[in-house]
Amino acid sequence: MNQKTQGSRLEIQGVNKLFGDFCALKDINLTIEPGELVCFLGPSGCGKTTLLRIIAGLEHQSGGLLHQGETDISLKPPRERDFGIVFQSYALFPNMTVIDNIAYGLRSIGMPKAQIHSRVDELLALVGLEDQASKYPAQLSGGQQQRVALARALAPSPGLLLLDEPLSALDAKVRQHLRGEIRSLQKQLGVTTVMVTHDQEEALAMADRVVVMNNGVIEQVGTPLDIYQQPASAFVASFIGAMNFIDSAPLNGQRVKVGNRELDLVRPLPRAEGCIQLAIRPEDVHLLPSGDGEWEGEVQALDYLGAFIRTHIRLSDIELDLVVDVDPRSARRLDLRVGGCVCLNLPSDALHCFAA
Ligand code: ATP
Repeated sequence: MNQKTQGSRLEIQGVNKLFGDFCALKDINLTIEPGELVCFLGPSGCGKTTLLRIIAGLEHQSGGLLHQGETDISLKPPRERDFGIVFQSYALFPNMTVIDNIAYGLRSIGMPKAQIHSRVDELLALVGLEDQASKYPAQLSGGQQQRVALARALAPSPGLLLLDEPLSALDAKVRQHLRGEIRSLQKQLGVTTVMVTHDQEEALAMADRVVVMNNGVIEQVGTPLDIYQQPASAFVASFIGAMNFIDSAPLNGQRVKVGNRELDLVRPLPRAEGCIQLAIRPEDVHLLPSGDGEWEGEVQALDYLGAFIRTHIRLSDIELDLVVDVDPRSARRLDLRVGGCVCLNLPSDALHCFAA
């Protein structure tokens, strides 16, 4: 039914952005391959929206270059760039029907009437809104309005689709449903897509690659699995998923000291003066019956979270609180209760280490 769009390659080279004295983006280098879905993820103020707006030409970079395919777009105004954009706030024309909203961009580029008609039909089918075609935005739910915005952005078959927090205004159920739809639509069309989000679950679920940003710099670029399993910095480790941090002192080789114990690490130690931060995911700590493990602790609290129990443990011989995720069957076997004793091991292959 639908032609596959030729997704563009996007290359960002040494992009900086200053707002007065404030540096919002520092030396951003990133290549996005044709057909990829890349998420910019990071805390509020890290610069992700500014970078998206620079790609769209809605904001001017203070330095650096942007290429879309072979074209240098660094200085081109938005109307001369080949992209569709969807905002968090839908931004539909309230006085136009769904059909007219979708057709708007096609009319403005002078597409013949018959062709517009068939393209709009195609898009309505693509986003599942055939039976809403004559309604006005106010007569649609938030999820339906965002589908219209998506169809409008995709109408001219752009090489690049830019999504600025497109799901943030929707309730949890609709958001989850729509993220699956956007993902499969994007793959079906092959349109290169950049999405801004501050929701890590959304980024991990949707992206081919995640760009984790902090304070105007890229901290790590990688697949969702890379980012979760091999965080490149303590910031990434703490921002994505839950993580326990443990201070340690480096000894010789790959040995560190935690409290009065020595641990051998599998990963090489970062070259740094002073303290090394060890990090371990709550699901990677092994809980054992009292008396069986290397570390002893007392259960401080148990949070039942459905699929697992988040167990808060205070270690006995060093001042350290850990969270450990335990599946409910193991919890029963281990007889976990608040105030009870447990033992645990910190498997060395699950320990990440960062310069403090
Ligand atoms: P959020 O998730 O809150 O939207 P963000 O990561 O998208 O955050 P940006 O909107 O890109 O962050 O802003 C990055 C930084 O640049 C922030 O500190 C912001 O205050 C600043 N900033 C953004 N736009 C301007 C502007 N027009 N003038 C001055 N400072 C700005």
